[in-house]
Amino acid sequence: MTKICEYFQNVKETQFSIEILPPVKGESIQALYNKINPLMEFKPKFVDVTYHREEYVYKECNGGLLEKRVVRKRPGTVGICAAIMNKFQVETVPHIICGGFSKEETENALIDLNFLGINNVLALRGDAIKSETRFRPHPEGHHYALDLVDQIKDLNDGKYLDESLKGSSTDFCIGVAGYPEKHFEAPNMKSDLSFLKKKIDAGASYIVTQMFFDNKKFFEFVENCRAEGIDVPIIPGLKPLVNIKQLITLPSFFHIDIPEELHNEVMSCSNPEDVKKIGVQWCIHQSKELKKAKVPCLHYYSMGKSDPIEAIAKEVF
Ligand code: FAD
Repeated sequence: MTKICEYFQNVKETQFSIEILPPVKGESIQALYNKINPLMEFKPKFVDVTYHREEYVYKECNGGLLEKRVVRKRPGTVGICAAIMNKFQVETVPHIICGGFSKEETENALIDLNFLGINNVLALRGDAIKSETRFRPHPEGHHYALDLVDQIKDLNDGKYLDESLKGSSTDFCIGVAGYPEKHFEAPNMKSDLSFLKKKIDAGASYIVTQMFFDNKKFFEFVENCRAEGIDVPIIPGLKPLVNIKQLITLPSFFHIDIPEELHNEVMSCSNPEDVKKIGVQWCIHQSKELKKAKVPCLHYYSMGKSDPIEAIAKEVF
């Protein structure tokens, strides 16, 4: 199968790609196929599948006491990648996160992916567990996405954690995350970009950005990356706003701004359908402008809903 980075070397037109979430535990994979199916008409170059770390839940047990349990609500990233690749003949990109994994577990997951013929990964640190305020690495795991990129690159060079092992090498194409509005923990943009550069120098070959609603921020980010010496393809991540609640939830979860104009337009809507229309139109406008600027790919965050992406793709591709 093709490596994502090779698409951008050989294809000059703006490509289409999507990010999907694994189904909530208990939901069938058919429900996911039904959502993806209409998007296949637009020939996505790749489908990213997110990884969701464990969460703590409290269940009442005997005597009314609360028992803390660890659950993973959306398991199955690796299996879903293999299933989608086989069913739709499309490249899939599993997200690999540092949070919750030892280096050994990460190595084993990478070996599974290699056996399945999945050669693209997006290497991420991951967020804090929902009930915790800051990211805590696994005691035998990685602190930063940079360390994860190093581990994947080592495996590409045939270096396993057990140095005495002379194993076969993998051939992963590694993507990493970038933040046009700065990662929320970074003290300033300069510092964030210097760490992004380190991920590229360590072997990552493309960047996918956090969602943004103002293209100016993306264009500035690309300029700043180039000035920093980051010369790999930078893929804008886009998400249509689809309900009024997202005026609050998107900025608070993703640490991004909603432009005043979009905010005002949404606030003037009298029903949920109109909000969705405004959000989709905004995203179409963003997409067309980015396409005109010849970005390598437009990457859409579906967040479990494919019909707004379908409406956008119909207008843009
Ligand atoms: P890093 O690159 O490690 O950066 C984290 C912070 O540390 C930044 O502030 C950076 O400036 C700083 N930093 C980096 N390296 C160093 C260093 N060596 N020393 C000191 N500071 C440093 N999360 C999930 O849980 N699952 C997903 O599937 C998922 N998919 C995502 C997809 C995309 C495209 C994006 C943009 C984000 C995604 N996330 C996902 C969220 C992501 O995990 C969080 O934003 C996380 O907080 C940071 O991840 P990162 O890989 O950017 O981290």
